[in-house]
Amino acid sequence: MRDFPRHPDPQTLHYGPWGLTSAISPELSERLLREEMGALQFGELVPASVCSQFGRLKTLYLAGLFSYHSFTYAEREAHRILEVALKLRFLEHYDNRVPLVRKGQEHTITATSFEDVRSLVARRRERVVGHPQFDGSLASLLRWARAEGYFYGQHNRIRELVTSHLRNSLQHSERDHVSALPDALRTITLHFQWIQRLWGYDTPGGDAYPGPVPRTPWVIGRWPDLGEVTWFGIEAVPTAQGCDRPGGLFHVVLAADRQNLADWRPDLEATAVPVQALWGPGSWSELLGQLASGPSRWQGDEVTVVDRTFYIQVVGGGIAPPRSARHVIALQQELPDESWFVVRADTPGFAVHHVVELVSSQLRDPPDRHNPAGPCEHCAAESLLSGVPRSALDDIIRQS
Ligand SMILES: [Zn+2]
Repeated sequence: MRDFPRHPDPQTLHYGPWGLTSAISPELSERLLREEMGALQFGELVPASVCSQFGRLKTLYLAGLFSYHSFTYAEREAHRILEVALKLRFLEHYDNRVPLVRKGQEHTITATSFEDVRSLVARRRERVVGHPQFDGSLASLLRWARAEGYFYGQHNRIRELVTSHLRNSLQHSERDHVSALPDALRTITLHFQWIQRLWGYDTPGGDAYPGPVPRTPWVIGRWPDLGEVTWFGIEAVPTAQGCDRPGGLFHVVLAADRQNLADWRPDLEATAVPVQALWGPGSWSELLGQLASGPSRWQGDEVTVVDRTFYIQVVGGGIAPPRSARHVIALQQELPDESWFVVRADTPGFAVHHVVELVSSQLRDPPDRHNPAGPCEHCAAESLLSGVPRSALDDIIRQS
């Protein structure tokens, strides 16, 4: 066993690779902490001062091996460095020449530091052009970043709404707050992704800005009479066993790895990463025939998973599962009492939740009602259209 300069904190040793556990060795704990921080490497456009401050945050986090309180300090630092990064991006965005309005007259100031701007807008003597509510606070910097298109996504929007409250309670609370290791890591990882995004970088595998997700061809087989379903990568077709049993219906789809394709339906959106039908339904022998006819025409691609558009049909108070635009186009029959909700969300589940809340809105007090037009304060969804006939979907489908 290695000699450590100080005694490891027993509290830290109870966090293993899968969360709270019986105590792991100090060596394994140190390796995990280093791996978590080592994965956070900024792109080269991120300013050096942000990188160096984040480097010191990592050191604080690693010191959590010896003092559990270090995780709390590291989480506070993550909030502070996010604000630093937003201020620097703000100045870079305007090339240090910030357009302001005073008594209706536009003019430009040369700002050498963010304080030059904040001192003018905080008391509302001046306003930033295009951002009349901007007051220099963390909350307004986050709103500015979203309005300028640096930030997007519905989960991110809700996280942005609560971030300044979380920061304030962590920074200014009179209580002796202690952050749990996973909570500190979540904040640090999230703010790392946001800072990366400010300079145009995705974080593959991250939950905020994963960037385009690769998809490859998969086979999905169902035996409806038996209630059985199977799925595997198309390269496994030559060695697949039992697929020639009678009654099997097969599709070839584009899907991301590690998805539960038992949920997939050709006429609905049900998966966390969009799945695209390529071929089917057909029998196993028809599928083999397709593959034997020459080099596969089914190639992989990439797909965005943030800010998807879902179309949800409501008939007589019953709420159908979400559809994509192409699913709506493929619908044959129009029901006389159907209405539609078009929702921007990151996953089908959040879109449905929002529509359930809208349809049952009469059961709620007005302040708790979900928003039927625009971004919702209560959930990670944005209403694009609410309660409209199918004919009203044409424009939005054309633009999709
Ligand atoms: Zn909502």
